[in-house]
Amino acid sequence: MKSFFDNAPSPSSAAPRLLSGSGAGEYRPYFPQKPMPSVAFEPPLHSDESAAPRLNWMQVQNSYIIIETETGMDVIDQHAYHERIIYEKMYARVVAPETERLESQKLLIPDTFELRAGQEELLELCTDVLHKLGIDVAPFGPGVWAVQSFPTLLRKAKPAEFMEELIEKLAETHIAPGSEELVHFILDTASCKAAIKAGQKLSEMEVVHMLEEAERTQRSGRCPHGRPARISFTKDALDKQFKRTGF
Ligand SMILES: [Zn+2]
Repeated sequence: MKSFFDNAPSPSSAAPRLLSGSGAGEYRPYFPQKPMPSVAFEPPLHSDESAAPRLNWMQVQNSYIIIETETGMDVIDQHAYHERIIYEKMYARVVAPETERLESQKLLIPDTFELRAGQEELLELCTDVLHKLGIDVAPFGPGVWAVQSFPTLLRKAKPAEFMEELIEKLAETHIAPGSEELVHFILDTASCKAAIKAGQKLSEMEVVHMLEEAERTQRSGRCPHGRPARISFTKDALDKQFKRTGF
């Protein structure tokens, strides 16, 4: 495990690259805007790695990332944080002009799934949003549908299984067809599936890339369900907790 002290920034380094504050929900465009990478862990596009001060972070319990900030430290829930990044990336495509959609791959063999009576109408309500997310489905036989293309961002999920789960969950809700709520429901389900899990050991590249992507993500401090994803602790607050008065 990376020690909290192993990768301390060198004394000559300038301000840390990631500033605290994204937890408060505001967006700080610290990195120049550039096209979003199409997959979750593409290596960063810039090559000035050597010039950048190293981040002081560690993963604990394979579930949280503790990162040193200018004023103290932030604790990040890795699943909720990554979920928010992916959610915003997908949402940007859903609201983008008609022709733009999430990068997807055509399946060589269509992945088929069965629907019960009434579920077919539910699926038909979702096909426009699904198409924007790079998911194409078509009828395959009586009560059987097939996934024909699937987004690269969701490559960890099995297409037919994902669709069955989505429709099953949707059937349990009372979401109105064509509503904004339906869009959020589909995005929630998809981003939860695509995000790194709690309990997953992350490589240094995965953590650094996630932190960089979060800098370009609005509302990264909260997961799509509204739970906090990143909580800040200032040194002042910690000093108070420990009842420090001097040395
Ligand atoms: Zn989730």
